[in-house]
Amino acid sequence: MEFLLSLSIVFAGLFVLLKLPWLRMAEFPLVIGMTAFYGASAVIPVAVLMPLLSLRSFLSGQSLASDAAFSVSLVVTAVIAASVADRLRRQRATAISSLDAIRDTARNLTLEEGMESLSNDEIMSHYYASLLKTDEEIGELLLTLRQAVLADSVSLFVPQGSGFTLRCTTEEKGGIIISDKGMIYDCAKGRKIISSGEVAEKKIGPGFIRSGKVVSIVVVPVLEGASTAGVLAADSSRFQAFSETEKNTVKMFAEHIARVLERGRIYMRVKRDTFGLKKLTEGSSSLVSSLNIDLIVKSLCDWAEKIAPCRVFFFLSEGELFRLVNQEGIPPSDGNLFPLKGTLLNMAAENRQHMYLSDVSTYKIPVLPFKTGDVRSIFTVPMLFENRLLGLLVMLSENRSFLDPFQVDILKVMCNQAATSIENARLHAEIEKMATTDGLTGLLNHRVFQEKLSEEFRRVGRFSEPVSLLLTDIDFFKKINDTYGHPVGDVVLKEVSKTIRETIRNVDIAARYGGEEFAVILPGSAGDGAKIIAERLRKAVMERKFSSDGKSFGVTISMGIATSTADASNKEELIEKADQALYHAKHNGRNQSVLWSTIR
Ligand code: GH3
Ligand code: MG
Ligand code: MG
Repeated sequence: MEFLLSLSIVFAGLFVLLKLPWLRMAEFPLVIGMTAFYGASAVIPVAVLMPLLSLRSFLSGQSLASDAAFSVSLVVTAVIAASVADRLRRQRATAISSLDAIRDTARNLTLEEGMESLSNDEIMSHYYASLLKTDEEIGELLLTLRQAVLADSVSLFVPQGSGFTLRCTTEEKGGIIISDKGMIYDCAKGRKIISSGEVAEKKIGPGFIRSGKVVSIVVVPVLEGASTAGVLAADSSRFQAFSETEKNTVKMFAEHIARVLERGRIYMRVKRDTFGLKKLTEGSSSLVSSLNIDLIVKSLCDWAEKIAPCRVFFFLSEGELFRLVNQEGIPPSDGNLFPLKGTLLNMAAENRQHMYLSDVSTYKIPVLPFKTGDVRSIFTVPMLFENRLLGLLVMLSENRSFLDPFQVDILKVMCNQAATSIENARLHAEIEKMATTDGLTGLLNHRVFQEKLSEEFRRVGRFSEPVSLLLTDIDFFKKINDTYGHPVGDVVLKEVSKTIRETIRNVDIAARYGGEEFAVILPGSAGDGAKIIAERLRKAVMERKFSSDGKSFGVTISMGIATSTADASNKEELIEKADQALYHAKHNGRNQSVLWSTIR
């Protein structure tokens, strides 16, 4: 809009400056363009004001009449353009809705052997193939019926959208044209036979037009249980052509056609369900075989995409927030943690219920906590385990009603399965953490320290790099316990551990060696490098203040450092040497770090 408006100002300016009256004509295509995009109501005020833009002539009052005439012609242009645009828009909407209707029917009907997914394109091609087969059979039936009741033409109409479409006829192609309303509509609505006698009384037409004259007609609903699958019509140009016997014959054929349609539908549904269940079995076995949450989520999302092509997201619960884990096409941001408040997704999360919205184009609430582009329908399943929300699977589609009830069902079953797998993986990770870390400090435990040190020894041995070991012991810790109590001692242990974690490098490995002793493995560091880290740690601990019962106190640590292969050639020797250096630090006055190599 802004662009077009500025363009029109430029034109008006040029018109005045260059004194080129014909340049004014350029306003017409601009008005048409603006109307197509923003509607007549937005453009008419602009059209009225446009001549004012040539201010000089307007102010001089020279050309008021011609300006007014120009305004009027611009407004007329806008109105005409608006009506044309509106008509085009409506035609497009009708075309889209009938295409949607065909797709829905197709979805409910089809699935053939060898299909790779439940995608729209494949469904459509199989749908048309199956339609042709059933149509052939129905075509034969219609020809037989025409002979049996001596009709001029026999046709089968089926519902489509809010109206009807011709499915099969004995006439040539184009010989039958659906008209507005009429007997086929009334017959479908009332679910009962209508014949020509009743038509005369009701003064309604057949609901279709054909080349020959229609004098007598029998219209019978094709009923499939509670729904009307179609309407069968036999007509003739003879007066009172159909007696009770003929009506019953048409009725009998309608029942037979209902069975043919139903058989086709059931056949396709069984095939489709079998396919879906096969995919379900494949998918769930890939889920249970993993204890890695990322892999489980990935295989669930890949599988969901096969069930219905769409964009799939997965949010994993993290406290009050949700971490986006499957994020194709979405750039990662702020650790990918999002609150769900104020989104459509939050409704499903709070209700603990799956949510399928087949058309969200008019919703004002955002779907996800970030921009999602075009979304027409959304399906989401909260992953629950014992009513705990583990995460949410979200599927977004640009199409209306992208899932049918069967797809919704298998997605729910699969998510249920995935929730159990995710909970298993979560428990597994928790148990593993418990087995490898120290409960009080969160550092690695003694067993894992020994394993890690062996590992490092092997690694640095291969690359002939040094590895240092730093053993730490808190000074006079017994006194802290005695003075302030054991719980305060625990707080000190936690805080010192935290300081260690914050001070060391990412490559370093910290563990609780035992009691109030800690070990830090420093890969790649020898004597001086290790000493720098040790001193940094010593100062950081010394600066930390603690308090108990209003009394403030601090702690200090002593450290012993040994390096391989300079000081030791195996793991046991390295620990031994570091311990000797620590002993030295203690006896030398504490609150210091000592390199074993400097002892003598
Ligand atoms: P030094 O400077 O010589 O190391 O003196 P110290 O008092 O620290 O002596 P020592 O290392 O022998 O004391 C260890 C104390 O740590 C003994 C034990 O009661 C205490 N301790 C060990 N584990 C824990 C624990 O998990 N919590 C608490 N509060 N105290 C612990
Ligand atoms: Mg000790
Ligand atoms: Mg101690």
